[in-house]
Order: sequence, then C-alpha cells, then structure tokens
Amino acid sequence: MLGAMMNRPLLISSLLEFAVINHPGTEIVSRRVEGDIHRYRWSDAALRCARVANAITRLGVKPGDRIGTLAWNTYRHLELYFGVSGMGGVLHTINPRLFPEQIAWIVNHAQDRIIFVDLTFLPLLDAVRAQLKTLEKVVVLCDADAMPAGRDDLVCYETLIAAESSTFAWPEFDERSASSLCYTSGTTGHPKGVLYSHRSTVLHAWASLHSGGLNIGRESVVLPVVPMFHVNAWGTPYAAAMSGAKLVFPGPGMDGKSLHELIDAEQATLLLGVPTVWLGLLTYLDSINAKMDSVKHAVVGGSAAPLSMIRAFDEKHDVFLIHAWGMTETSPLGTVNAPTEEVLALPKEERYLRQAKQGRPIFGVDLKIIDDEGQELPRDGRAFGRLMIRGPWVASGYYLQKDSPLTDGWFDTGDVATLDAGNTMQIVDRRKDVIKSGGEWISSIDLENIAVGHPAVKEACVIGVPHPKWDERPLLLVILKDGASISKEELLGFVGKSIARFWLPDDVIFVMELPHTATGKLFKLPLREQYANHLLKQVS
Ligand code: ADP
Repeated sequence: MLGAMMNRPLLISSLLEFAVINHPGTEIVSRRVEGDIHRYRWSDAALRCARVANAITRLGVKPGDRIGTLAWNTYRHLELYFGVSGMGGVLHTINPRLFPEQIAWIVNHAQDRIIFVDLTFLPLLDAVRAQLKTLEKVVVLCDADAMPAGRDDLVCYETLIAAESSTFAWPEFDERSASSLCYTSGTTGHPKGVLYSHRSTVLHAWASLHSGGLNIGRESVVLPVVPMFHVNAWGTPYAAAMSGAKLVFPGPGMDGKSLHELIDAEQATLLLGVPTVWLGLLTYLDSINAKMDSVKHAVVGGSAAPLSMIRAFDEKHDVFLIHAWGMTETSPLGTVNAPTEEVLALPKEERYLRQAKQGRPIFGVDLKIIDDEGQELPRDGRAFGRLMIRGPWVASGYYLQKDSPLTDGWFDTGDVATLDAGNTMQIVDRRKDVIKSGGEWISSIDLENIAVGHPAVKEACVIGVPHPKWDERPLLLVILKDGASISKEELLGFVGKSIARFWLPDDVIFVMELPHTATGKLFKLPLREQYANHLLKQVS
C-alpha cells in the first residue's frame, strides 16, 4: 500500500522561492572580478534569476540544453545556478584550471550552446573558441562599461538581463531531471561528466545542513572558497538558500590577504576550502600576527588535511577544522568529521588525531570497504580496502557513457580506506598512489602529512618508485619554505619518528615546484615517470 502524501518534486527553483519568502533580507556578499564588494539580498537575487531564465528562454534555450559557465564565486554565478537550472536548463560549470584542450573537449562533449564567462577567463575561452562546435553565444559577466572594446561577438550579461522581465513562472517537472554538469579532472583519459539532478542536489543540500554535516543554519555566515566551477562549491549556494545563511563569495580573491579581509569584514563563521587554500590563509595570518575572531568552523576536503594544519587552526585561531571527504561523483559530500561533545572533551593531541580522519557518512550515504575479491572487510579501524559508496547523490553513470561504473549498485571511489566500529572513515590513499613495498602497503598521504609537519617544509609529495628488491619504495619530494634549509638526513630523522621503519622514504629530493591537477591535488603520474629510475640507478 502506498502512503497518501503529496508527491511534490524537489526542484532547485523551490529553493529560490523558499529563500525569497522566508529570508528575503538575508545578504549575499561578493568580491567582484572588478575588485569592489557587491552586496544584495535574496529578494534582489530572485528578480535577477528570473531575468536570466527569461533571457535564455528568449535565446532559444530549451529544458535539457547545456549552458556553460567559466566563472568565479560571485552573485552572478549564483544567478546562473538558479536561473539556468530553475528553467530546466543544465548548468555546465567549467573548471578554468583544466588544460585548454580539455576545456575544448568538454564543451564539445557537453554541447554547450551558450557560455557565461568572467572577464578573467575570456582569454582562455578565446584561445579555444575556434574549436567549439556547438557554441552559439558568449555572454560576459560584467557591466556594460567593462565590456572589451570592439568585440561585437560578445554579449554583455547586464545588458542582456536588463531587457528582461523580473518575473518568471518556474516550471514544475520531474525532480530526476538533470540540473548541472561537472567534469572530473581526468588525469588519465578524457574527463568524465557527472550529471547532477534536481533531486540529488536538493537532498544533498538538505543533508549538509544538520549538525552531523556542515551545520549550516540561519545564523551562519558561510564563505565558500571552494569554487562554484567545481562540484557546485560543495552545494553551499543551495544550502544557503535552504537555510537562510548569509553567503560571502570571495570572487577571484583566494589569497590569504583577500580572504582575511572578507572574513573580518563580513564576520564569516564557516569557511570551506581545500588544504592549499588554508595553508595560504594561515601563512598570511602568521605573517601579520592576526587571529580569525568570527570563524567557528572551517571545513577542509579535496585532499587530506595534515595534523599540523588541524593544530594551527585550533591553537592559533580557536577554529575547529572539520574534515570532509567526497568527490565529483558524490556531489561531493560523503563523510563529515563534525565536532561532537565526546571529541571536544578529549585532550588536544588525541582530538587532533580524531580530526585527521575523514569522518562519518551523512544520512543517505552508505559506505563499505571491500578486498580485491569483493568481500566486505570489517569495520575495525585496521582493515583497509576499496572504499565503496552509494546514495541518492552518488553518480550512477557518466554523461553519455554507456558503461556503468557501478558494481552491485555501489560506486568504487578509487580510494583505499578504513572504517572503524563507529563507521568513521579514514582514507589510507588513492588506490593508484598507495606504495606496495615487499607485499606491505605504505600510505603516501600519511608520509606527506608527517613531512609537512616539519617547520621547514612547504609542500611534500611521496611517490612509489620501482625498486629491485622491494618492488616499490617511497621517494619523498619536498618544496622548502622560503629561506628554510634542512638536510635529507634531518628530514628523514623527523619523519622516521612517527612511522614504522619500513615506511621511511629511501631518498629525499628537494624541488622548486610540484605538479597539481585542475582540482588542486598533487599530480603524481608525471613524477612517477620522471623518477622511475631513481632508486634503480642508486641500488645497482
Ligand atoms: P577529480 O575531479 O580529480 O575527481 P574530486 O574533487 O572528485 O576531483 O576528487 C575526489 C578525490 O579526492 C577522492 O576520491 C579522494 O581521493 C580525494 N579526497 C577528497 N577529500 C579528501 C579528504 N578529506 N582526504 C583525503 N582525500 C580526499
């Protein structure tokens, strides 16, 4: 027997409508590409979202059509989030950090008809434009007087939407309809498109609000440094519309100084970003001897947060660093290590170790770990295996790809992890990065995080390289902080204090830079190739 309840679809437009009625006066603050600070309210945003929907409808956009964006976190990008998806279009957020040829590839693959672009990224788009087969229009996200001169191939966003009505009857449709599209960074092969739905987006935002998630409420002032051009800024624009939290967008100002100014001026309470962004912020704050006073929590994800960072946030700023884990395919929130009474009561060093774990799944997400034969492994905090995930905001396939990535309804994350008796997950490594030495596994992430705990080290990267006796051995590559110096022996001595003997890297190489992917992660593939003979040469 079915229940007798209304079957109202979960639509992104309903978030906007809810925001307008329930918290019309809540502010959305943005650092604009133009450099100044812009502020308005949900009531203003809604009128402009309607104008966007009217404008693209007039341009012939039909439900299901893909509309690209190459843009920073600002109010204009927010208007596209709601205006495009709300009318039934699919917002394809393009990561400008992808290689130009990858951008051309994904725009053609997605068949974007229009691209909305920030002035910053116009040269990038111009460089590949001749290759874009389906592109009909480029709309520049700026005021009329900031439009590049002599470019009648471009449309001005403000001029475009000013001509439209500020009311739009948001259509009702199947909540499973596609709402946005985001490509993985594709470090091997072509990027893969993850096609989010209205339902998955609304459920993900809902789940993120509660205290075991990101704990976003009406009183929160949320500053997502995580970009709207990758995995929807971890869903924060939707979560803010749902909760009434104030949104503060950093625009292109991701450096420590710009972030600090904004955090202070807007009294941000919750920050979200990847470890490298926090490293920049912490270093800057140290350099001016300043403390973040308004911030209660900072969320970190995308890569593992080192213990030294968790400690610095707490000791210097009294900020609890909340570790979260996810991926493009999981919208992205999979697990969150939200503070609990029990954890807060622990002695500090013990507490930091708990914070270093990636956390528990939020309701809706199921996790398990399996061995190579597919057998489920115990939740004992020790056994590690392939991390599998399922849930209503986890991808069931890739855009325009026939093959299912699922195994018995579960998505293989490509990560190796442990789960403990309380279902807290800890990432051991990416499967492709784990180092297999003499039949044992060594976590490159653990070694990196220990190495960056040394005050002389700015960034560390550990790769497995071939070894005649042990198959593979760890090699430590480090960038030192400006003006710092340390010998190989000293650094290995420091790292060796926290690990089993056989984990100790066989060599240390000091480098000036390390390659990163478009999502800011260490890109180890070229390093493994470059240093493939390093130990073979030494040993023979
Ligand atoms: P890409 O576009 O490169 O796939 P994603 O943002 O989807 O980028 O990356 C997902 C991966 O990032 C995860 O599978 C995991 O390896 C890593 N990751 C994400 N969050 C964390 C975390 N908190 N700790 C360790 N690794 C993480």
